[in-house]
Amino acid sequence: MFENVKNISIIGIARSGVSSAIFLKQKNFNVFISDYSFISEDSEFIQLLKKNQIEYETGKHTLNKILNSDLIVLSPGVPLNSNIVIEIQKAKKKYIGEIELAYQFCNKEAKIIAITGSNGKSTTTTLTGEIFKNAGFHTIVAGNIGFPFINFVNEIKSNSIVVLELSSFQIDTLFSFHPYISIILNVYPNHLDRYSSFEDYRNSKLGLIKNQSINDYLVINSNLKNFIQKPINKIFINYSENNFVNMNIKDYLEYSINQRTGKINFNNLNLLGKHNYENICAAVAAALIFNINENVIKKTVENFKGLEHRLEFVRKIKNVSFYNDSKSTTPMATLTALNAFNNNIILILGGRNKGLDFSILANIIKEKVKYVILFGEAKEIILKELNLKENYFICDTLFEVVNKAYNLAKENDIVLFSPACASFDMFENFEDRGKKFKELVIAL
Ligand code: ADP
Repeated sequence: MFENVKNISIIGIARSGVSSAIFLKQKNFNVFISDYSFISEDSEFIQLLKKNQIEYETGKHTLNKILNSDLIVLSPGVPLNSNIVIEIQKAKKKYIGEIELAYQFCNKEAKIIAITGSNGKSTTTTLTGEIFKNAGFHTIVAGNIGFPFINFVNEIKSNSIVVLELSSFQIDTLFSFHPYISIILNVYPNHLDRYSSFEDYRNSKLGLIKNQSINDYLVINSNLKNFIQKPINKIFINYSENNFVNMNIKDYLEYSINQRTGKINFNNLNLLGKHNYENICAAVAAALIFNINENVIKKTVENFKGLEHRLEFVRKIKNVSFYNDSKSTTPMATLTALNAFNNNIILILGGRNKGLDFSILANIIKEKVKYVILFGEAKEIILKELNLKENYFICDTLFEVVNKAYNLAKENDIVLFSPACASFDMFENFEDRGKKFKELVIAL
């Protein structure tokens, strides 16, 4: 792909764009990087570009210069329906994403495990990485999880395992990328602003397997089995299906992979909820394909605490358990969290309304929730859509929220901070919101 390539333009000045620019500059290409937004000269990214003497522009795209390059690299934040990509397509210029770029330069003997899905990507990617590390493999964890793949290319050896989290946008800009194992966790309506239909979005996810063949593996939710016609080794994961599936967790995980069947009993899992059992199944499937020892799998899964802000256990006070699920920015995510507990829940909801339907929570709240505490911009609309008549409280600050929850809670109750809304009304982002919640809980 790079034989006649000298001039490369990169669209998007952020983590993966800047990493790609530096990598390519070190390989002696002429690199130009462009971002439509204005970016401060003091920013870390511009400083890095200057230090590496990379030509850049911000606040515009100089189309002629971009279209005159031999290859264009798109950052994952650039939508395929944006004007610049439409111009690139019209001009029939070759473009790839950062993942494809890294793949081109990566040791082809290394085995890639590529993980996608609407939800659960980061949890599954992290757990898979942990299992392989604990089994003694030289393991790289990269991609959408926050570490650009391109940064690791030089250290990947023929016996390395590369665990890559991929968003659908990253899949859309792959061409020759060939994972040994693809994991497609689930597909829910999401990002429909970037795709013309749900079917398009689903096809984008399924595009992950396009270069795989009969010697490769696909680990996929059995809900999606009808969409896979390709001859490939398929491993289905599903928590609740009664029919035979290859991987199934109830009290234990039962598997059947490559003529090997078995059962792993887990004691005291830290990950809660059916959704996390599917994530565990997917990670374990990848490990079993590599014949990793069951004890290593069992210990790693049992010790895995999950990721921060995703149903994260904070502390127990007087037998009341506090959970931080600040990553929940949609009612659907809160529904998932509520499904992970039995009852006696004090639920904290609120933040910036994203225009989603809160009424999907009404039934489960009736069934499992003792009190709802509302805060933030969306408190009134949530109250209206849930049609709450009693057992709710409205607070102005997170401090008040946490103290109210603490005062209401009785022994064995669960305080669940799963806001179902964006955080930007009162916080920088969901991480900031979750950290502040935890600080207040620790201070109780
Ligand atoms: P992603 O990286 O895809 O955003 P995370 O692992 O960060 O996913 O999990 C984010 C949230 O998605 C969780 O807090 C939970 O609400 C939900 N979730 C996680 N795994 C699943 C799953 N397998 N199915 C459905 N929802 C899930």
